[in-house]
Amino acid sequence: MNEYDSERVASLLASRGFVPASSEMDADVVFVNTCTVRAKPQHKAYSFVGRLKWLKRAKPHARVVVGGCLAQQEGKKLLERFDHVDLVLGTHGIPRLAGLLDEVALGQRLAFTEFTYEFGEHLPGPQGAANPVSRFLTIMQGCDNFCSYCVVPHVRGREISRPSGDVLAEARGLVAGGARELILLGQNVNSYGLKNGDITFPVLLGMISGIEGLLRIRFTTSHPKDLSGELMETMAESDKIARQIHLPVQSGSDNVLGMMNRGYTRDDYLRKIEMLRQKMPDIAITTDLIVGFPGETEEDFADTLSLVEEVNFLSGFSFKYSDRPFTAAARLKDKVPEKVKSRRLAELQELLKTRNTAHQVRLVGEAVEVLVTGESRLGKGQMSGRCEDFRVVNFPGEDHLAGQLVEVMVEEALPNCLRGRMIFRADSLEISS
Ligand code: SAH
Ligand code: SF4
Repeated sequence: MNEYDSERVASLLASRGFVPASSEMDADVVFVNTCTVRAKPQHKAYSFVGRLKWLKRAKPHARVVVGGCLAQQEGKKLLERFDHVDLVLGTHGIPRLAGLLDEVALGQRLAFTEFTYEFGEHLPGPQGAANPVSRFLTIMQGCDNFCSYCVVPHVRGREISRPSGDVLAEARGLVAGGARELILLGQNVNSYGLKNGDITFPVLLGMISGIEGLLRIRFTTSHPKDLSGELMETMAESDKIARQIHLPVQSGSDNVLGMMNRGYTRDDYLRKIEMLRQKMPDIAITTDLIVGFPGETEEDFADTLSLVEEVNFLSGFSFKYSDRPFTAAARLKDKVPEKVKSRRLAELQELLKTRNTAHQVRLVGEAVEVLVTGESRLGKGQMSGRCEDFRVVNFPGEDHLAGQLVEVMVEEALPNCLRGRMIFRADSLEISS
């Protein structure tokens, strides 16, 4: 989501005549996009912003803008703490950026933290895009779920879906500009359109699937409580929607899930996994997990480990719980000591790693369909892409393959990617057997 916001900022600045600088030192405007979902990224954001003091000393005319969740959370306190920051731009401020920069150019220091619920125009150009083949597309903002540990509803505001007409127009624009994969973004995509009476998420997916030239669609994040049978059907019937789902479970213990206010039990979650696998036996399922939520006992943690075993996730992101401002969990008493959280995290990560390695190794000797996203980090003659389950696959190949679907025979499973050789191109021209 933050990456998408960075793209929006880059497009907007490009439309005003700005060009990307090669480093902060060369920049007239430095925009720092921040995340505060956990304590760690917040510390990183603070130290990065702090380090920009030297820039302002060396280049007094340069403007420093802090955007994103930290800006929303702290507002004008950031102006007080850092006298080299010129503009604090809250999470709803991007459509106002150009006007605010004009005011800043006149020497003002400003903090904009209103929730405007305006999405503004997004110019779907390639500026700032991490990859022109695979593009993000935000379909909704904010969240109404108020999971007790989560700062998102407080810093991003209430859930609001973008009108389907705008989403479709942007999707078509992105595909016309070379995108072959779209990743639809929202905190809870399964509730798209329900609040404002627009089309539902499965219907939106169907309409986006109809865009000619688009090869793959993904979406994130799905909230387990709102994952519907209709969505599963839509995925199972589509040849464009990747058979991959990120379904954050957070904990395997009913006690903890209740305290987290997640709105489902362990059994509810397991039933949805079963339904997904009944309809799509090969679906790749990934998750997010939190250890050390206040009051989490050893039994609760053991329930999380057993759920991870039972579901057999392809992979998972796991985090130590950290108190976030404004949240209900921050006010809970029974905090888990840091040492216990670290031990639980290490144990969980070990289990996830073992499972992930087993999944990776099983693919050696199999052919996988890869959407080629561009040159790999190894440089010329080495291409990179993702298979349907989102794993990175590297293989020898030429630049012109970017944007095509190819078939790759997996020869080696490395910790973070698969390596192989191409056997088919999308146009069915056989390369080797
Ligand atoms: N909307 C998504 C999650 C967005 S936040 C969902 O509902 O699943 C991304 C992840 O950060 C969460 O899934 C959670 O695992 C983690 N997270 C959020 N708040 C946290 C906190 N206070 N401490 C530790 N991890 C947290
Ligand atoms: Fe946070 Fe829960 Fe909303 Fe996800 S669903 S953004 S975890 S409040």
